[in-house]
Amino acid sequence: MKKLRVVVLGAGFGGLELSTILSEALGEDLDLTLIDKNDCFIFGFSKLDVMFHHEMPEAVRLAYRHIKKPGVRFCQEEIIAIDPTARRVKTQNKTYAADVLVIALGADYEIDATPGLSDHGHEFYTFAGAKRLRDVLANFKKGRVVIGVSGTPFKCPPAPSEAALMLHDYLTKRGVRQDCEITLVMPFGVPIPPSPETSKALLAAFAERNITFVPKKTVASLDGAKRLVLFDDNSSMPYDLYLGVPRHCVPAVVAASGLTEEGWIVPSVKNLKTKFPGVYAVGDVTRIGPPKAGLFAEGAARVAALSILADLKGDAQPPDYDGAGICYIEFGSGRVGRVDVNFLSGPTVTGIYHEPSTDLVKEKKHFGSSRRERWFGLK
Ligand SMILES: Cc1cc2nc3c(=O)[nH]c(=O)nc-3n(C[C@H](O)[C@H](O)[C@H](O)COP(=O)(O)OP(=O)(O)OC[C@H]3O[C@@H](n4cnc5c(N)ncnc54)[C@H](O)[C@@H]3O)c2cc1C
Repeated sequence: MKKLRVVVLGAGFGGLELSTILSEALGEDLDLTLIDKNDCFIFGFSKLDVMFHHEMPEAVRLAYRHIKKPGVRFCQEEIIAIDPTARRVKTQNKTYAADVLVIALGADYEIDATPGLSDHGHEFYTFAGAKRLRDVLANFKKGRVVIGVSGTPFKCPPAPSEAALMLHDYLTKRGVRQDCEITLVMPFGVPIPPSPETSKALLAAFAERNITFVPKKTVASLDGAKRLVLFDDNSSMPYDLYLGVPRHCVPAVVAASGLTEEGWIVPSVKNLKTKFPGVYAVGDVTRIGPPKAGLFAEGAARVAALSILADLKGDAQPPDYDGAGICYIEFGSGRVGRVDVNFLSGPTVTGIYHEPSTDLVKEKKHFGSSRRERWFGLK
């Protein structure tokens, strides 16, 4: 039997999970090439751990060389062109042709879309940005910290709230919290719109810690000379240290591929097939309803993998993608909460809140270690 040639673009949550499922199902009957420009995977939450000195930067890197799965070959290459009609992909080294092409390239950042951000502020969404902030925060003793967001959609909507709570703990531990102000400014009316209960708990946690929450403002630019954060409604706020979430976009190679509609890939919400036969798109590179977060990328990858297998065997398509997932939320003081969100399977979006606890700390640890083992074979 001819092997199924699958090329998976991007080895993040979506690409790793899809490759794992196809390898488990087809073994050596699979000819899968997994391509990523980086040499390692890093969990999104590890960026916060690195920034607030909970982890050393080297400790959170999961090297792709550990991937040893039947039928899967990892290639560290930069993808420079995608032809979805011919299902052909060009990297700086060679051209790959596929029976099935999976786009799992995640979301990129337009840092320069926020004038002043790179020169007069800091972002904590790239690994490099989080690493830089380790040293900046270690030397910060006094002043106004503003945490802001430059546009929606953005990855992991709880992350700015987590950053505010973790910053409070960090400054408290260093004995300088009383000399600092923390303000969190969000584009939404509440921290987590799909879950009023989670939002209420976060607002209470901010109030207890003297963190100011400012709703419904998106950051437009930073005026470095006047030390002002400028918002889309023409208001402004003084700052000494700015920690920002940059504007998100698809990677340039995806924008140039003809796959996007209004900035993002919009595959079938049922099975993640794009309008190009044999081409799927999963995770943050898409816009189909659920937020940009790891477990949602994983859930979409699972459905796409089952759809690929069903087409290969001539079986019925799998049940539709349900847009369900969970987000762990660092509440500070060493506790973790959880919100279970369901975006697609009911008449409205639902978000069920689980109070912060030490059990959830263990559960979040297991979330990370189980993926390390499943995707990388690392105990
Ligand atoms: C600070 C922060 C905290 C977060 N916390 C959480 C959390 O607690 N829980 C959670 O579920 N999610 C969290 N997230 C979000 C989560 O990391 C993403 O939603 C998730 O990684 C998306 O998975 P993906 O597979 O779609 O894309 P990604 O994981 O981003 O993978 C895309 C891959 O494509 C590669 N790539 C891109 N362009 C190219 C190219 N041209 N050539 C080759 N390779 C390329 C990239 O190197 C990358 O490895 C957080 C994110 C941030 C920034």
